[in-house]
Amino acid sequence: MIERLFRSGADVFRLNFSHGSHEDHAARIAIVRALEKSSGRPIGILADVQGPKLRIGRFAGGRVHLGQGQEFRLDMDPSPGNARRVQMPHREILAAAAPGTTLLLDDGKLRLRVAHSRCDHLLCEVMTGGALSDRKGVNVPDIVLDIPALTEKDRADLGFALEHGVDFVGLSFVQRPADVAEAREIAAGRAWIVAKIEKPQALDQLDAVLDLADAAMVARGDLGVELPPEEVPLAQKRIVRAMRARGKPVIVATQMLESMINAPAPTRAEASDVAAAVFDGADAVMLSAETAAGQYPVEAVDMMDRIVTRMERDEDWRHLTDAGRPGAEPSVSGAIAAAACQVARTVGARAVVAFTTSGSTALRVSRDRPVPPIMALVTDTAVARRLALAWGVHAVVTENAHGMSDAVIRGTKLAREEGFARAGEVIVVVGGIPFGQAGTTNSLRVVTVK
Ligand code: PGA
Ligand code: MN
Repeated sequence: MIERLFRSGADVFRLNFSHGSHEDHAARIAIVRALEKSSGRPIGILADVQGPKLRIGRFAGGRVHLGQGQEFRLDMDPSPGNARRVQMPHREILAAAAPGTTLLLDDGKLRLRVAHSRCDHLLCEVMTGGALSDRKGVNVPDIVLDIPALTEKDRADLGFALEHGVDFVGLSFVQRPADVAEAREIAAGRAWIVAKIEKPQALDQLDAVLDLADAAMVARGDLGVELPPEEVPLAQKRIVRAMRARGKPVIVATQMLESMINAPAPTRAEASDVAAAVFDGADAVMLSAETAAGQYPVEAVDMMDRIVTRMERDEDWRHLTDAGRPGAEPSVSGAIAAAACQVARTVGARAVVAFTTSGSTALRVSRDRPVPPIMALVTDTAVARRLALAWGVHAVVTENAHGMSDAVIRGTKLAREEGFARAGEVIVVVGGIPFGQAGTTNSLRVVTVK
């Protein structure tokens, strides 16, 4: 199935560490790496760690019903709960909650308001009632909790994932820049850090959070629990715009083709949602339950691919994308990347071929959303895999070029082999001397393929 999803257009596979054992994840990583070998294409793996997901304890009968207006107590007592109380084993919430604080249970289906807070319990009024069962999640949108972004489990999962050579680490429930900094330190360059924006607290410090991240995810599932629904589309636009300005990849995630969990075709609204993410400028769109647990995983990937491809052929999309282009980064490589896109369009080039050591030149070109595809030539497989997340980039692992004329020869040959250009067509090659040293992009050549 993983192979079929890849052939249908998947570029990156996410392993959700909220589920499954390390053996399960290791087996999947092995499958992806074997597929990478047999297909000859780099494939990204994103290890998504659970983060501080807060949960209530258990009930004597498994579930209770809370009526609107009744009192309900959350405390530290591990004995099974009932319709008047249940355990909430998180001291940080007890410490931070005050009268008036809102607590959301079970993805926001139930809503409680704190009436009294004591050191060992909270007495709440039920604002929105309903059924409540064992171990349901708790969201606290109003307050910054004094909990680290990485739990003990996350640290173990992160260590495992990095040892197994994943390309991206997804950080759940980021609240502050320090959360990203902590994960960065652990990853130590071995993987890109994807900050999942799913808390209003992260939106409050968005610039500082995104400055420290390598990529971001608009994690609409949890974000949509903590924010009113009408705020989510604007948050999406804001996060995507902020990442495009930085030239860092951004993923739009969750419920994109939700109905395809049980149906072979999406709703019209879902097709529009995927299209809207493309128009907003996302680098990547993500499927979760549709492919992890749904009945039509291949159809879902295929549908997403069709929508994305169709939108990016649209003239309005091109106009909007050009209009939203951030100004060139004030550096030599920033200027070369912007010029490459301009030249490629003017001469009708078939590809922008970028020699890139760290991947940053490819990201700079990608940020400008050139008309032709970007072929990134890299020496490091790890860089090629990371670039799988970036808009419009097709990475190929090759030897380093020895100077610009060698780069032109090599770039032309690979552009032909990879099917981007035929004899008589033009490509734009960017690179820098000395080759193989990051941050040296300073040259641009326009080449006719022989
Ligand atoms: P999750 O993250 O699927 O790991 O919860 C994405 C989201 O919340 O949208
Ligand atoms: Mn989430």
